[in-house]
Amino acid sequence: MNRKTVALVAHDHKKAELLEWVKTHIDSMKLCDLCATGTTGGLIADNTGLTVQRYNSGPLGGDQQIGALIAEGRLDALIFFWDPLNPAPHDPDVKALLRLCSVWNVPVACSSATADLIITSPLFFSTDYVRIKPEY
Ligand code: PGA
Repeated sequence: MNRKTVALVAHDHKKAELLEWVKTHIDSMKLCDLCATGTTGGLIADNTGLTVQRYNSGPLGGDQQIGALIAEGRLDALIFFWDPLNPAPHDPDVKALLRLCSVWNVPVACSSATADLIITSPLFFSTDYVRIKPEY
C-alpha cells in the first residue's frame, strides 16, 4: 500500500457533488494525504473530519499553488470538478492546472465517473504501478 497525495478542487456549483464523492470514498480518502483549494478544503474538512491541507481559494491563487505541487513532483492525483456551465474569473489558472497534469502525466478526474475509476483502480495504491514521469 502506497500512501498518495491527492488534491481536491471544486467550483462552487460542483462542491456538493465533490463532497458526496469524498464521503462515498471515505475509506480511500483516509489513506491519502489530502490538499485542496481553500473553500473546497474547508467544506470537506468540516463535513467529513478528514485532515485537509488548505491552500488559497482558487481565484486567489489556490489553483496555482496546487500546480506548483505538480511541477515539484509532489502530487499523485487531482480530482478537479470544474464547472462547465459557468464562467470562472480564474479560467487561465484552471487551464494552467489541467495543462500541468498533462505535462507531468498526473492522473486528473474532472467528473465523478472518472474519479470513481481512478480511486477504485487496484493500481492506484499499488507499489507495483509506477506512472511514467516525463523527462524534458
Ligand atoms: P475554492 O476554489 O475551493 O476556494 O472555491 C476552487 C476554484 O474555484 O478553483
